[in-house]
Amino acid sequence: MRCPFCGAQDTRVVDSRLSQEGDNVRRRRACSECNERFTTFEVAELSLPRIVKSNGNREPFREDKLRGGMLRALEKRPVGSDQIEAAINRIKKRLRTSGEREIPSHFVGESVMRELSRLDHVAYVRFASVYRSFQDVNEFRTVIDNLEKQPVDVLQPQIDTDDFSA
Ligand SMILES: [Zn+2]
Repeated sequence: MRCPFCGAQDTRVVDSRLSQEGDNVRRRRACSECNERFTTFEVAELSLPRIVKSNGNREPFREDKLRGGMLRALEKRPVGSDQIEAAINRIKKRLRTSGEREIPSHFVGESVMRELSRLDHVAYVRFASVYRSFQDVNEFRTVIDNLEKQPVDVLQPQIDTDDFSA
């Protein structure tokens, strides 16, 4: 790491200490050129990335929006709240661990589809059709591509025609 005082590239760690909570590491460094000392902190990047919509607008990730969309798709389906919350947590973890500061909105949509395809196939199809009307042509294409990758026999058995009569 470059020295913030003289800009030299050669600095060395003279002390390294884990915080009491264990969630960050504090390092004392010394510059080999000017001998100045400085401290760095190492923490895991856990903030959720911002969402980049198809029109280029950025917005903060909103968990309530994600949950709302999933609950609508799962309405009157035999999926428990615990399973839904676990799915939401997996999606958030995927967003966090991407390490990106900004993520295209279709990444979230695809993550939801992935979770719904495991939870309930009716919800999966419902979400795909709602998602379609919310997104632009390119994102719709992504959804359809993903749908086409799903084997037909995976989608059909659980589909009850009652679920589609308005
Ligand atoms: Zn220096």
